[in-house]
Amino acid sequence: MSDIKHSRLAVIALGSNMGDSRAYVRKAAEEVAGLPGISLVKMSKLYQSEPAHVLDQDIFTNAVMTVEVDNTICALDLLHALQAIEIANDRVRHEHWGPRTLDLDIIDIQGELSDTEELRIPHPYALVRDFVVTPLLEIAPDYVLANGKPVTKDTVEYGAVISVE
Ligand code: AMP
Repeated sequence: MSDIKHSRLAVIALGSNMGDSRAYVRKAAEEVAGLPGISLVKMSKLYQSEPAHVLDQDIFTNAVMTVEVDNTICALDLLHALQAIEIANDRVRHEHWGPRTLDLDIIDIQGELSDTEELRIPHPYALVRDFVVTPLLEIAPDYVLANGKPVTKDTVEYGAVISVE
């Protein structure tokens, strides 16, 4: 048996605060898990959280999932597949950080760093957003980002989780 790994672990964050936000997040999670070359490891519960930056908008439904990504799929392929799912789910957004039907972010891919405008991983805000940190700690309590930073509640600054269901 060969020890060569054919996939690596990635973390994806999901959020919605328009329409039936829970349904958008659940459906998107199924669509992400169904992408070719992707297999679900763990899905968090759904969390309700305070909006970050633009405060005058509805609360968000958030979740985080860990997935194994086949090595034939590069990080940009994954990003583009997530963007296609956003668009297919009526993605509308009129202002930066404003209301949206669906937001999918790559939080981290093990063994990979990227710092281009199109793709920054680990996600630069990952550790300051409670709505990312809390669900990620639920499904992967010892998670360490590809840049070596452990995931901990100590760094959280905004986007507080209000409830979990
Ligand atoms: P947003 O408003 O959060 O949906 O931002 C979308 C933009 O962020 C797109 O132009 C992406 O190319 C870019 N982007 C950079 N890094 C990431 C990341 N880690 N995950 C998702 N989008 C990213």
